[in-house]
Amino acid sequence: MEVIFLGTGTSQGIPVIGSKHPVCLSNDPRDKRLRVSVLVNWEGYSILVDCGPDFRSQMLTHGIDHIDAILYTHEHNDHTAGLDDIRPFFFRQGDIPVFAHKRVLNSLKKRFEYIFETENKYPGAPSVSIQEIINEPFNFKSLTIVPVNVMHNRVQVFGFRFGDFAYLTDVKTIEKEEIEKLRGVKVLVVNALRQEPHHSHFCLGDALEFIEDLKPERAYLTHISHVMGFHEEVQQSLPENVFLAYDNLKITI
Ligand SMILES: [Zn+2]
Repeated sequence: MEVIFLGTGTSQGIPVIGSKHPVCLSNDPRDKRLRVSVLVNWEGYSILVDCGPDFRSQMLTHGIDHIDAILYTHEHNDHTAGLDDIRPFFFRQGDIPVFAHKRVLNSLKKRFEYIFETENKYPGAPSVSIQEIINEPFNFKSLTIVPVNVMHNRVQVFGFRFGDFAYLTDVKTIEKEEIEKLRGVKVLVVNALRQEPHHSHFCLGDALEFIEDLKPERAYLTHISHVMGFHEEVQQSLPENVFLAYDNLKITI
């Protein structure tokens, strides 16, 4: 399995527009972070997790010409705003399978009404085939994907376990039985917004405690704000098996 970090930033991305914060002005490419998304290449299938406002440039950067499915974690704009830009994939491949919670699908239907239109649809609009997911393992082709229910303050969010790999973003709290679904993962991705606590995201301390409990071989932090600090400095403060993810990082599992 190969995982590409397409974006590792929080909702505004880094640099934040107009910001003079030193991290926003950094020349280190690892301090430039697009909105969060990963591409999971598993058993010959390319599965995109979230399709945010930077989707187009993320696809171009990596020369991606085929996507087998899109999984959505939740409906917030930084995870969903790129849906219109699936058009080139739709023109080549036909309807793109989209997996999400019913609430998220309803939100997409409202915000991208023309994509879900069934009558007199504009010919240039893309189409998707929607698959509602509940908090139970589901199959895509020959793969089994396990959703993991987490809370982003009051918003329900799905993380996903793909065999030995799990990807969680926008977690603030997680129930014990959901944590049990993650036991034994070799590589874990989890969000860490900044050093200071936050009302709807794990801060660095929360994420490290969570990792310490699960003890994966390696863990990567994502959904990072500029106030976390410089990549280079924060990385040096982390335990041996914990890494700050950065845009365009590729890992194999
Ligand atoms: Zn987010």
